Amino acid sequence: MGLPGKEQCQWFRGSTTRPNIRYQVHDYDAEKEEEEVEALVGELKRRHPHGQVIVYCSSVAKTVRLAEVLQCVCYHRNVGSQEEKERLVGQLTSGSQQVFTATNALGLGVDAPTIRAVVHVGAVRKVRHYAQESGRAGRDGQASEAIIMRGFRVSRRGITAVPFPKDAEEEMVELIGGDGCIREVLDQAMDGREDRRGCGQGEERCQRCDGLGERADTDDEVTDGDECDEHEFEQQMSARRAQADRVHRQEAQDAMEVGRLEELMEEWKDGCQRCRAWGVRGDGHDIGSCQKEMAEEIRQGIEDFTSRKQWARFSCCFECGLPQSVCESFALDTASGGYHKQSGVDCQYGGVLVEMVFSVWSRHVDLVGDMLQAAMEQDGWMAQTEREREDGPGMGAIGRWFCEKKRWGGIEVNKMSWFIVQVMGGESRA
Ligand SMILES: [Zn+2]
Ligand SMILES: [Zn+2]
Ligand SMILES: [Zn+2]
Repeated sequence: MGLPGKEQCQWFRGSTTRPNIRYQVHDYDAEKEEEEVEALVGELKRRHPHGQVIVYCSSVAKTVRLAEVLQCVCYHRNVGSQEEKERLVGQLTSGSQQVFTATNALGLGVDAPTIRAVVHVGAVRKVRHYAQESGRAGRDGQASEAIIMRGFRVSRRGITAVPFPKDAEEEMVELIGGDGCIREVLDQAMDGREDRRGCGQGEERCQRCDGLGERADTDDEVTDGDECDEHEFEQQMSARRAQADRVHRQEAQDAMEVGRLEELMEEWKDGCQRCRAWGVRGDGHDIGSCQKEMAEEIRQGIEDFTSRKQWARFSCCFECGLPQSVCESFALDTASGGYHKQSGVDCQYGGVLVEMVFSVWSRHVDLVGDMLQAAMEQDGWMAQTEREREDGPGMGAIGRWFCEKKRWGGIEVNKMSWFIVQVMGGESRA
């Protein structure tokens, strides 16, 4: 009797990937890494209020910098004495801290059952490390996430992926840059398992099997052409070019829509937004003094939203809600490429965005309500109560959603700005 054959070993070991983890690759603007990581982690904390999030970074410097941004615990090889390290790991395993940034020094001995998300920022070189680190999510069997953040740079010439490091394993390049099932790549690399065809029954579907997320593949990461025959290689290349093309077209379309937002503000800034939404010419009154049907309800909606709104950081001017690139109270700082608030300069559109949204919504309750629910569901909103199942999201949830941040046409906006353009479409309906 010898040792069991190779196949049996594999059979006994089962699969490397874990059924309760949803594997994902998120594209992000590499120039805005801190903000992008902050936004993602914020979302993960909201999605998993009782679980922990680990952000694995590719260097000690990044680990420290992102811990400052996220105001969280940071773990790397020089973080302190052995006792200090144990104390930090204790905070993770006991769940007393929710978010950690770490280098791959955070490894063995970390067995916290309720880690809900493992994020990787920056280069990941080895599939084995990735499998181990991502596998720290969801030890308790509950639905969890493993997310690799993949940097892109946006320039006038288009969108290009940050290149993979020279010493990255080929499997890792395929896992991040390919377009097949992420579990397939992981299982094949780790277990030599060739039989998997996509995510299966009873498994959280990976991002690619789910068809979620926009992919922005470019030509530079096509792996070794020798492996497939020329014809197949050509097909892959043209599929990638078509994909890159779609992304560029979408960007151009988004940029046009952002322009439309400004046009709308210009059209709607004067007079009464309620009356404009009903298609009637006003007599010079404004929304504050409008006596027409629904005007009072609109004012209440505006007041209710305004008193509770918390715009996401960097998503807009906090006074008018419009993108910083639109509001005149912000000036472009050419040195940093960022915007800063100028004191003593008013928002040229005042409260028009919010007034317009509530006016148009009141005029087209069903249409706008349906569009809102669809957009929120796309972002992961789900009815939790009987009432929500019947009526859709309530005002509280909608108000929070309006305040969330979104990248759109190369800038950052709140979802309210984006949404009103979707409602109004390319042509003025006023
Ligand atoms: Zn899959
Ligand atoms: Zn009016
Ligand atoms: Zn403003």
